[in-house]
Amino acid sequence: MGDEKLKGGCICGQVRYQLKEKPLFTQACHCKDCKVLTGSSYVVNSSVLENTLTVEGEVSSTELKAGSGAPCKTYFCVKCGTYVYADYDSAVKRFTLRTKTLDNSHKFPPQVHIFIKNKDPWLNLSKDVICFEEMYDPKKVWPEDSLKRYSEYLKDNS
Ligand SMILES: [Zn+2]
Ligand SMILES: [Zn+2]
Repeated sequence: MGDEKLKGGCICGQVRYQLKEKPLFTQACHCKDCKVLTGSSYVVNSSVLENTLTVEGEVSSTELKAGSGAPCKTYFCVKCGTYVYADYDSAVKRFTLRTKTLDNSHKFPPQVHIFIKNKDPWLNLSKDVICFEEMYDPKKVWPEDSLKRYSEYLKDNS
């Protein structure tokens, strides 16, 4: 799947992007911030290596505070406002892509659900889904292949 071009974009079509590699990990977040930011019950986000994302079109950004209190930069289409990706911490060299902006987003279902403590009570998740009350340790949860891709990227780009 390495060479397959993954594409996506905003709702108006002004912003289009390509992903060189499949995401490292995809998760659904039910925290209060994600609810407000999306106007929905949860968001689906994919962690991607920063050098795998190429964005065409004009995006604007704004600085917000992540749940941890650290500054986080979110990027959105200047025309329609679709929030396409975020940079939670430039030191980690990963972007947080809004999974549902991918053209074939159904291929990337959430691998875990996080901040389940804030899950809407009327939303029932399947028993097969892996849930965390809050965050988790990627080293214990991400697939081996993703951890390897990530550590190799950090090694080559430090
Ligand atoms: Zn747009
Ligand atoms: Zn969240």
